[in-house]
Formats: sequence, C-alpha cells, structure tokens
Amino acid sequence: MSHDIVLKNGLVVTPNGVIRGGIAVEGEQIVAVGASSELGQAKREIDVEDKILFPGTFDPHVHFGISDRFGDEAMVEDFLRDTKDCLIGGVTTIATTTLIGKDPMLDLFDQAVECGTNHSWCDFKVTCVVNTLDQVAQIPAVAAKGGVSYKFFTGYSGPQAEAFGMNPDGITPSFFHAACEQLAHCGPPTFAKIHAEDPHVRGILIDRLREMGRADQLTAWAESSPEWAESVQVYTYGMIANQLRVPIYPVHISAAHTVETVKRLHAEGLNIVGETVACFLNTTAPEMDAHGMGGKAKIQPPIRFEKDKERLWRGLQEGTLSVVGTDSLTYSSSFKTDGDFWDCRVGINLQVADTLPLLFHEGVNKGRLDLVTLSKVLSENAAKLYGLYPKKGALAIGSDADIVVLDPEKEAVLGVDRMRSRADYSLWEGRQVKGIPVKTFLRGQLVMEDGEIVAEQPSGRFVEQVVRPRGL
Ligand SMILES: [Zn+2]
Repeated sequence: MSHDIVLKNGLVVTPNGVIRGGIAVEGEQIVAVGASSELGQAKREIDVEDKILFPGTFDPHVHFGISDRFGDEAMVEDFLRDTKDCLIGGVTTIATTTLIGKDPMLDLFDQAVECGTNHSWCDFKVTCVVNTLDQVAQIPAVAAKGGVSYKFFTGYSGPQAEAFGMNPDGITPSFFHAACEQLAHCGPPTFAKIHAEDPHVRGILIDRLREMGRADQLTAWAESSPEWAESVQVYTYGMIANQLRVPIYPVHISAAHTVETVKRLHAEGLNIVGETVACFLNTTAPEMDAHGMGGKAKIQPPIRFEKDKERLWRGLQEGTLSVVGTDSLTYSSSFKTDGDFWDCRVGINLQVADTLPLLFHEGVNKGRLDLVTLSKVLSENAAKLYGLYPKKGALAIGSDADIVVLDPEKEAVLGVDRMRSRADYSLWEGRQVKGIPVKTFLRGQLVMEDGEIVAEQPSGRFVEQVVRPRGL
C-alpha cells in the first residue's frame, strides 16, 4: 500500500516525547507516526534530514477586521492576506474574534464564519465578543453552531467600554455571572475568555502619567497598569466562573504576580487556562523604549519588565500558563504613530509569522522551555481547550495532517520582509533567530515552503466541533 506523503528522517514532536522517525499522510490525515523504516512507501517521499516535525500551531487570539479599518470587508481582507503569515509561521489554526458591537451575536458569528470561508489560508474558529445581555441570551444558539469561546472585555469601562457597545459600567460581576449561567447550560467545551485588568485605577494613573510627559513612554505605560489590576480580576472572575463550573481563560497574562495568582487558584482546584502572548515573552517596556517603538508597542495590558518576562517563561515550563497566543491585529505604522502616544489605540501588529521562530529561539535554544512543552503551549493545549484534540494539536494517527517542518539550524532575520500580510512594521525588525519553519502542511497539503506560499488558493476551513456542547 502506498501513502500519499511520507516525511522521514526527522525528529517528531509527539504528545509523549520526541522520537526519531517520520510521519505518513493519506488525504487530510496522519496514518502513521514512527521509525522511518516502518512508514512504508509513498507517492511523495520527503527526507527532512534531521529537521523537526512539529504540530501545526493554534493561535487562539487574533482579531481580524477591527484594526485601523473596521467591518466585514476589512475582515475578509485580513483573512485573505494575514493568514498567509500564519502559514509562514507554522500556524495552521487560529481563533479570531467577531466584529465588536451590539448586533445580534448569532449574526456576528455567522458573518465572521462567512468572512473566513474561501478567504482563509489556515483553518479557523471564531470567538464571540459578548457586550450586551441580549448577546448573553444568544450564547446557546451560537454554541449549537460550533461557537466555543466567548470573550469578555472585563478590563474596559467608561468611554472605552461604550466604544465597544457595552454600557459604561463594562462587564460587571453580575453581568459575567449571567453569562456563565448560559455557558454552564451549554457545558463543555464552551468557555469564557476575559481581558483581566481593573479599568478604574488605570484611568486615574494614565491621566497622572500622561501629565508628566516622560520620554520613556512605554515604561510609563507599563506603570499605568499595576500588576494587581490584572490579578484581582483573574481572581474575581475566576471565582464566578468556578462557582458555575465554567472554564475561564484569562487572555494575555502579562504580570509575574498574576502567574502566582493562577498558581494559587490551580491549587484550589479552579479550572483556569492561562494564556500569555508572544510579545510579553520576548521583550520589555524599557527595551521597546530603547528601540523608539512608541505607539507601535502600546498594548493593553502593557509589555512589562524583565522579572515579569522571566516569570511568564517559568509559568509555561511549570504548566501554570498553558497557551501562547499573539493578540494580533493588522495596524499600519502610521495609524500607531501619527498623533499623541497616549491617544494612540492599544494593540500590536500581526505576530503570527514570528511566534514559533521567536519561541523556539528564546525558549528551546536558550533552555527556558523543552520542545514538547513548546508544542503543548503552541498547539496541543489550545486544541484541547476548544474540544478539537486530537483532530488538531497533535502529530498522531488520525489527526489532521497539520505539520510544520522546522529547521533548527537555519538562521533568519525577522521583520516585514518575511511577511505577506498587510503589516508594514514589526516589533522584531532585525531580530536574529536560529530555527525557522521551512515547510507547512495544512491537512496534508503543502501550503508553505521556504517562506513562500505554495498553495494556489486559500483552503482554510471553519473547524467543526468534535465534541458538541452538552444538551444541544
Ligand atoms: Zn485581544
């Protein structure tokens, strides 16, 4: 019997460890993983020459259609252009948010799925942003269609909340409690994502710091959001979700203190899946100030300090933090740098092309993270969270053949030259790394080779649920 593709003579990162050997693929699926001599014949055999075979990664934190342009046309364009960067970076599945507003959530969900269909170069899920009680009431209807993740901007109040379509109080504990009741009714794998960051004290500190006119803008920005502002919301909203047996997923954990908070709550038995994002792991506010990044590196919560960065890495290795996302948006540099730093909208540029090379270099090469843990935080754990494991997130028999061939010896310089998206700047411009994806397969199809997209058209799909929400 002859397989479609055999990748042989590699180091295969499986859920249980790294093995020497390869992978056989038929159609869209993996049919064998093991020693190269036992994989059998194939129509196409690729000797990967000791390169690493890594599971296609899953970035659950992307925002299409809401950067310096807003709407479904912008979302279609972001899918069409920015998911090419996903393939370049070995990302084979993303979850992107719906457009943010007060419209019926079912419409926003359908619209996002439609925007991605025939336009996405990688597979995708959709996260619903929940702003109103009418939207809360629609959670079961969206869950029945495969909506698993629901995002709550708990860190927003006042005008910032109103701009999103919330009332000025933002997501209060009582609002969140009502939403968790709906999620509990749906059952697993539905879960709540929160942007944890107390909004009230931040407003006061921002005004005070802004008046000081400091040159080290990003350091001042980091000081505007105390560590406890993040931790206190992880605690409060974590307790509410836990009471209703709903998994909670704090996105973009930035502070050392929050890692300790999650660790304590885990010890109490809470189901908290902590995410951090690539930029918090790879730089600090003083470093971004030294590079003159200004508004380009202004994200909320802020890029913080060395001690936070190193605690986040240790949090990943010890399992307190489970997932690395990116919080990517496609902003143009002019949108982020024209005008006053303090008025500039928050959020950072597209990171999807760079996350795997950066984390491999800073994590594996520098001894902060082992290769199997890297595969868990970039792929397996997000797939489990979404109820898609082992279809996604594993190099295993029966899994989708989403495979990255990573050359651990190849050096590369990061920056916009590598990107095929709309992005015109990168936080990592000029940064040298060793270890880069040289091939990406999406469901058995070679879609990226040596930094170029080799698929002829976008073949990404909305990923249907393997596990259906309970009672639906
Ligand atoms: Zn975000």
